[in-house]
Amino acid sequence: MTFYRPTWVEISTSAFADNVRVLKSWVGPSVQIMAVLKADAYGHGAVALAPVALANGASSIGVSSLEEAIQLREAGIKSPLLILGGIYPLENFEVALRYNITPTVASLEAAQELERAERKMGANIPLHLKVDTGMGRIGVSPEGAKKVLDWLFEHPHLTLAGVYSHFSSVSTDPQFTRRQLKIFEELKDQARRMGFTETAFHLANSAGLSRYRESHHDLVRPGIVLYGIRERGKARGPAVSPVLSWQTKVIYLKKVAARTPISYGQTFVTKKRMEIATLPVGYADGIPRAVSNKGFVLIKGKKRPILGRVTMDHIMIDATGLNAQIGEPVVLMGQQGSQSIHVSDWAAWAGTISYEIFCGISKRVPRVVV
Ligand SMILES: *Cc1c(COP(=O)(O)O)cnc(C)c1O
Repeated sequence: MTFYRPTWVEISTSAFADNVRVLKSWVGPSVQIMAVLKADAYGHGAVALAPVALANGASSIGVSSLEEAIQLREAGIKSPLLILGGIYPLENFEVALRYNITPTVASLEAAQELERAERKMGANIPLHLKVDTGMGRIGVSPEGAKKVLDWLFEHPHLTLAGVYSHFSSVSTDPQFTRRQLKIFEELKDQARRMGFTETAFHLANSAGLSRYRESHHDLVRPGIVLYGIRERGKARGPAVSPVLSWQTKVIYLKKVAARTPISYGQTFVTKKRMEIATLPVGYADGIPRAVSNKGFVLIKGKKRPILGRVTMDHIMIDATGLNAQIGEPVVLMGQQGSQSIHVSDWAAWAGTISYEIFCGISKRVPRVVV
């Protein structure tokens, strides 16, 4: 890929491969891994990472929409692909059938519609049933799940490949998490007794699988941990490392006098002579405007602050006393010398979570797979 503006992210497939293997040994041979590659693999690039996940221990892939699943099918991915969410309108089940994409069913009505689509198309694909154990998003209630299981029991030509739920508060509320675990276990026992012995039960996202062994069941659904993000301040959990680094270069340098305003609104004004470097990256690339006067970058192995407001296409940084040159390499996220800036630093400066920073790295930033 050709790009002219020196702003890009590097995606390390070897770091990603290592992370999948670390995850696999964390859960053990009897637990399957569904690699969650939704939102273009959290901004990392799903087409590049899907084969790496499958070659290193994942047996299936989770995405969020038919569009994302079709993109992977068209890139030649043959593994099961689960849509982690509702399919709407229900006629879209036919699209899932056409591409052999595993749909989530989250109501009795959806199960019946899927059965109609299968009959019409003479197709049979497995489905996963989503149960709401406390997330309050998509999913039948535990009582509703029993009704769907009864209905599926009467329609044995439909294959119930999975039953799953999702945690809402693993990092903040152990009591609530235990309640979700218990509801899920009861449902699993009941389904097993009904004869759904081949069905994979799954509940754990990254935080869940790191903190609660009993949440692993038959399969885990790691997302953020695959990209190398460990919970803040937690020594526990799989020893993964970051996959993405974000690079740019200085494109402009100037020495300015004291009392020089920098960027929109003059929210930063120099107090002394300073050297100001301009970087070709801004909020249109995914640098949150909230990090204006708050964030840092690495230049010449030093952490230097963002001065003034983040603009659409540029940020300015303090390069005073560094003897930096035009074209000087700058690390926005990743390592330079002995220093590093982590996605969670950006999240903290912006008052958000690492997920949102990753998903915000916009399409115009080239992903260079290394
Ligand atoms: C996004 C998602 C995951 C992965 O979550 P992480 O916190 O990134 O591990 C797992 N399951 C479902 C249903 C999801 O939507």
